[in-house]
Amino acid sequence: MSGEITELRHAIHREPEIGLDLPKTQAKVLAALDGLPLEISTGRGLSSVTAVLRRGDRGGRPPGSTQRGGPGPVVLLRGDMDALPITEETGLSYASVIRGAMHACGHDLHTAMLAGAARLLSARRAELPGTVVFMFQPGEEGYAGARYMIEEGVLEAAGHRPVAAYGLHVTSQRLPFGTFSTRPGAMLAAADQITVTVHGRGGHASVPHHAADPIPVACEMVTALQTLVTRKFDVFDPVVITVGSFHAGTTDNVIPDEARFLATARSFSEESRSALAELVPRLIGDIARGHGLTAEAIYAAEYPVTVNDAAEAAFAAETIAAVFGPERGEAAQFPLTGAEDFSFVLEQVPGAFVMLGACPPGNDPLTAPTNHSAHAVFDDAALADGTALYAELALRRLARG
Ligand SMILES: [Zn+2]
Ligand SMILES: [Zn+2]
Repeated sequence: MSGEITELRHAIHREPEIGLDLPKTQAKVLAALDGLPLEISTGRGLSSVTAVLRRGDRGGRPPGSTQRGGPGPVVLLRGDMDALPITEETGLSYASVIRGAMHACGHDLHTAMLAGAARLLSARRAELPGTVVFMFQPGEEGYAGARYMIEEGVLEAAGHRPVAAYGLHVTSQRLPFGTFSTRPGAMLAAADQITVTVHGRGGHASVPHHAADPIPVACEMVTALQTLVTRKFDVFDPVVITVGSFHAGTTDNVIPDEARFLATARSFSEESRSALAELVPRLIGDIARGHGLTAEAIYAAEYPVTVNDAAEAAFAAETIAAVFGPERGEAAQFPLTGAEDFSFVLEQVPGAFVMLGACPPGNDPLTAPTNHSAHAVFDDAALADGTALYAELALRRLARG
């Protein structure tokens, strides 16, 4: 099946779409699933595809005499489908033909793998010990697509809730090609956004004592946030705050009225996350007041911590070792500081998120361009193994009941 999965991946890669509305990608997924014995539904508020595969014979009838009391458990497999607002610079033969859009996070591979797994499992439908839900999800990159799919009922798509859910993510660097990596507990960080506006009073730059300059006050906030990180948080439950956008003023001899900045906050526990939400706005407000200015800090919750269930992470690691050999699995020592909206699924269903190294041979994983780089390359050779892992996780987990 490698050939057809690769073709699907290349077709999706050539025409990347961003956000919650991915009509071309959705059409390609529906075409790839066409003819399979699946119950398919599409999203209302987003272009998702949910496909349900139930046990049954090739004619689509329930297996009758072979049925062992009830339809069996449900397992959910998730693949995200959206791209990023990046102009591709890889020079690949199947590179994006759309300027300003690129599958730089490898979600094209996840979509193709999940469609491949639907085909594999459909062929084993008669022996399927339960039901599989395939969750093709738009809008992972900051649009909370998983949350919308949950609101639209993906967790109830099979009639009853999944006993387990699995997600897979390729990486273009860090992990050697073909290495799977997971861990129990926190797998990825929570990601929240901090929006700060400092209100001063503009004036002539030569007489700042007649104005209320918001720029030095905003600068003090930026450095104070780093002090907050080191003085208020346990080093063994770390947080990251990065100011990624900072804007004020127009020229050298004018004090502006306002300064604004945006920061991302990453954390790995509910305790640290709620402490951030409380301490950051307080610090910003107090610094502004200390200088006779005002400021507001909006702490907006985005994605929660992606938490792997310990038993499901162990099961995923066992499955990787059994299918591919123990040398192909790596127990991740630490969580990653990236974030995932699969976290919303894992808040409700025990499961595991697994990383897969897809760095092309010839690239050093330690120096290769990262996911989200305009130069990121993911090797097609990872597709077959990712497809196999999705299918094996479902089959083996359903067999456990
Ligand atoms: Zn990404
Ligand atoms: Zn991603």
